[in-house]
Amino acid sequence: MSKTFKPGEMLDIMFPSSHDLTPTNIECTSLKIRNLLAAGNTLLLVSKPHLSVISRLCEECAAYRALILFRFTIGSDDDGVLQYWEPNAPLFAERLASLELACKRYRTSISIEPALDLPNVERLIEKLEPHVTDTLWIGLMNRARNNVHPKTKRDVDELAKVLANQTPEQVTILYEKLKAHPKIQWKDSIREIVGLPACGKGTKEWARRSNKNCVLGCSHNCRYCYARQIIFNRTHRTDDWTTEKLLWDKAKKA
Ligand code: SF4
Repeated sequence: MSKTFKPGEMLDIMFPSSHDLTPTNIECTSLKIRNLLAAGNTLLLVSKPHLSVISRLCEECAAYRALILFRFTIGSDDDGVLQYWEPNAPLFAERLASLELACKRYRTSISIEPALDLPNVERLIEKLEPHVTDTLWIGLMNRARNNVHPKTKRDVDELAKVLANQTPEQVTILYEKLKAHPKIQWKDSIREIVGLPACGKGTKEWARRSNKNCVLGCSHNCRYCYARQIIFNRTHRTDDWTTEKLLWDKAKKA
């Protein structure tokens, strides 16, 4: 295995991009990951991490360690915030434990996108940064008014809070505080506000390809999920989004 990558470098494949790695699908997704690695691809493994899932992948992929960068999505250190926006995803302590485990043997990075609690991002970074070998990406909640569908007063209030926290003024203040941080990278949603050139759209900031998904649906059921919205726009059905359908024929291929 001669292929390796440098910190911050774009990888071959981001996996997954429209579901997550969960205890329900790990048999299927682990097979897919190992097939992609055996074919020589470098992988950006993206997840709101479950400790059992990351522990298993760390063991099963050990021979391909040099080809993997983990990127854990942690948008807040506040469990109340996480539980509201990402109702079935792990809470902060489990995500942090997954990061601590992975960084012992693998390269690690963080996606704070969407930043669910922008005023407390510095506190979040302080907790995560010691376990990050690569980069921490910060981005806003994109297309929130299209992807989030408030039904109750609390829904309206929570969305309003996120939007109020990601105004150009608030974003610029955060950027000025953190722009010299050597590990922080800014997603295009922030780069546009502070006048930096765009670095790509969606996964193109991180990987050359992202179409290797082998699960349809996602049990995490995040309220801002763009993948669910894409399915809804195509089929006008979201009723079975949280039931993960395993696409074994896709998992068996690299
Ligand atoms: S529900 Fe959507 S945003 Fe949340 S982890 Fe799953 S695919 Fe990602």
